[in-house]
Amino acid sequence: MIPAAFDYAKASSVDEALDLLAADGSRALAGGHSILPLLKLRLAHADRLVDIGGLAELKGVAAHDGGLRIGALTTYRELLDSALVSQGYPLLAEATDRIADLQVRNRGTVGGGVAHADPASDMAGILLALDAAFVLRSRGGTRTVASRDFFRGAFTTALAPGELLTEIVLPPLPAGADISQLRPFLLGGKLLARLQVCLAEHDNNLVDSRTLLKSIDYPCQHRFIPQRNKELV
Ligand SMILES: Cc1cc2nc3c(=O)[nH]c(=O)nc-3n(C[C@H](O)[C@H](O)[C@H](O)COP(=O)(O)OP(=O)(O)OC[C@H]3O[C@@H](n4cnc5c(N)ncnc54)[C@H](O)[C@@H]3O)c2cc1C
Repeated sequence: MIPAAFDYAKASSVDEALDLLAADGSRALAGGHSILPLLKLRLAHADRLVDIGGLAELKGVAAHDGGLRIGALTTYRELLDSALVSQGYPLLAEATDRIADLQVRNRGTVGGGVAHADPASDMAGILLALDAAFVLRSRGGTRTVASRDFFRGAFTTALAPGELLTEIVLPPLPAGADISQLRPFLLGGKLLARLQVCLAEHDNNLVDSRTLLKSIDYPCQHRFIPQRNKELV
């Protein structure tokens, strides 16, 4: 399949990317694993693709306030190579390791996966259960959106036209927290629902829990229910 014609512009800084994205019909291009197939199938349209793939300032994993900052352009491979991830957030490393194949993990970015918001995505559910926040920048300024407000439905997020996801901020896990992912239910090879639970224990007592039910039934909402309630579990 051949996509409809579009312009291509390579941004050399975040500010330049934001200027280019401010024009109607412009869309970001990161690793291209989600957007290029959609353009080829003509299920998505862009007048101009703004290539952000070379923006080093959007890459990498760093410690931040007891948690982590993950640049939007960080690839799954880079997440897997990060000791901060494997030691501090083992479930994130486990889930990343299960994503697709080497090629997708090497080029696909966390930010691209999150912005695409496929309800079958592994990453969206994990980031919701981890209570991540998303930093969004546009020419008008910067705002931070909690993951429970970011995912609006299938392929729909809080990102406004002209906005760029620049980083994902993970708060520290509650002390003693353990996160489990219940096996997803599959229907016809498609993910139907996933339940993720984050439990924090102290002296064998449950002190915090977060439950996430993500499903594909209409209207395809992710549900995030923060709880501080022992009786729940
Ligand atoms: C064969 C295959 C198998 C896959 N299997 C899995 C799997 O098992 N589990 C899973 O979770 N995912 C899977 N995926 C999806 C994969 O995770 C995503 O395709 C990938 O992460 C998208 O990232 P990208 O950098 O390629 O984004 P792109 O394709 O470049 O962009 C995707 C969308 O996000 C927008 N965008 C990108 N970056 C930003 C940004 N920083 N700010 C704002 N908007 C942005 C783009 O405009 C576009 O709309 C698979 C994909 C393929 C092709």
